Formats: sequence, C-alpha cells, structure tokens
Amino acid sequence: MSYQPLKGQTALVTGASSGIGAGVALALAAAGADVVVNYIANPKAAEDIVAKIVAGGTRGLALQADIGDEAQVEAMFDKMIAAWGRCDILVNNAGLQQDAAFTDMTLAQWNRVINTNLTGMFLCSRRAVKEMLRVGPRPDVSAATGKVICMSSVHEIIPWAGHVNYAASKGGVKLFMQSLSQELAPQKIRVNSIGPGAIQTPINRPAWETPEALEKLLELIPYGRIGQPADIGKAAVWLASDDSDYVNGQTIFVCGGMTLYPEFADGG
Ligand code: NAD
Repeated sequence: MSYQPLKGQTALVTGASSGIGAGVALALAAAGADVVVNYIANPKAAEDIVAKIVAGGTRGLALQADIGDEAQVEAMFDKMIAAWGRCDILVNNAGLQQDAAFTDMTLAQWNRVINTNLTGMFLCSRRAVKEMLRVGPRPDVSAATGKVICMSSVHEIIPWAGHVNYAASKGGVKLFMQSLSQELAPQKIRVNSIGPGAIQTPINRPAWETPEALEKLLELIPYGRIGQPADIGKAAVWLASDDSDYVNGQTIFVCGGMTLYPEFADGG
C-alpha cells in the first residue's frame, strides 16, 4: 500500500469532474481520503472519477452544485455531512475563464468569473470551516482541525492582458486565502493555495493542442514541459497532510518556473 497520510479523513474537491480537480480528487483518494467529487454539469464524468476512487479502496461521492450559488453549496455540504459526518479537507478548485479585450468585456463575463473563482471560494470555505469547527480537533487523524486549499494561479502575481477578470479573481484569491489563514490559524485550521502554471487541461486547450502553440507556450516554462493534473495532485496531498503542518497562508507555485521571469534568462 502506498503512503496514506490522509487515511480516515474526508475531502470535498470542487470542479472535480475534469482537469486539475479530477487529478486532485484521485491523488487525495490514493493518499487515503474519502472524496466528494463536486461537479456542475457532467454527472457521467464525475461518476467515472468516483468509480476510480472506489476502485482504489476509499469512498467517493459525486455531488452536483454550482459553487457560485449559496443554496446549492449549502445543499451539497448538507448531503456530504449526512453521508460522512464531517469535512476535514476542502479543495476550492472550480474556476473558469471568460476572456475578452478589456473594452469588449461584458459585465456578464466579469461577474461570471468573479462569482465562480472568488465568491464560490467564499461560499464553500465558509460552510466547510463551520463543519471543521463543529467537529473540532481529531488529533488521532490530523494535527490540524481542518485544511483548506485554494486553487489560485501564477496569475495571482503575473498580470494577464486580455484576462483582466481572471487575473483580478486570482489576485483576490491571494488575499482571501491569506486573510482566512490568519483568522483561522488559532483554531488550527490551515489555509494555503496552489498556484499552477500551465497544466494540460480543457481550460487552456488552445495553448497546447497544436505543436506550434505548445512550442510558444514552452517559451514561458523554464523546466521545458507542460504540467499535468498529477503534478498539482501531489502538492494538494502535501498541503492537506501533516507533512505541511507548519505551513500557513502560503501559495505553492507548481509551474515549472513560469514565475521566474523566463524572458530574463538570457540577461533580459
Ligand atoms: P477545467 O475547466 O478542466 O476545470 C474547471 C472545473 O470547474 C470544470 O470541471 C468546471 O465544470 C468546474 N466549474 C466551473 N464553474 C463551476 C461552478 N460554478 N460550480 C462548480 N464547478 C464549476 O480546468 P482546470 O485547468 O482543471 O482548472 C481548475 C482550476 O485550476 C481553476 O480554478 C483554474 O483557474 C486553475 N488553474 C488552471 C491552470 C491550468 O493551466 N490548467 C493554471 C492555473 C490555474
């Protein structure tokens, strides 16, 4: 059996029917956690992930909810608590892009991105933290009373023309995460972020689906390869486990060096 630092813990991963969320859900399950696979629109894909989780020996549950809708978020957590009694780990992963040149950006595009990427994180975290505090410490299972992991982006620090709504949402995630971490650390809840670089998922398909696009993308990645959801899954397991027990309010960039100003590699 592989290393299972999350054995006996329950997790909820938002937007877990595809891409990074699916990779994180599978990694948490392989590390011993029971995992709720939240999805918004594709029950078949969510059930496929649940089937893989169950085949690996832990529990899985697919729950539909739009994370930007308060009533749906509350109903999702009600179902999780009814089924498993608690939520030890929340991974705020769901997110989307609605790209446009700034003067063409509609209010609907702005609102949809902020509502999903930022407000959804608020709604899910608020309920998950209430559940963590309700259950309280379980030192036999984890040193922390609960763990919240936010899926940010390299765009919490790298400006992104043509994606002002997305960059604003991820910049918001940075101080959301840090402020929440500061507020909850005394109650032994750890809150951290992962900042992925370019990970090969449906969200950025045009950036990797042709050899020309991939070559251009790789110019931004010193480590010379596009990332995979499993790269993010490993970081999520670490941040959810006691191996990172003294880590609070940090963004771990998992980006092949994208944040290292690669255009300065030859002296600028
Ligand atoms: P993806 O499109 O495969 O995954 C996003 C998931 O969120 C989808 O399953 C989608 O259905 C779900 N979702 C969207 N709106 C939702 C809502 N309102 N309620 C519930 N679920 C919703 O793309 P991904 O790359 O796996 O993205 C996952 C996260 O990683 C996002 O927050 C994204 O911003 C972040 N990220 C991705 C990359 C990358 O290169 N792929 C880089 C940096 C950050």
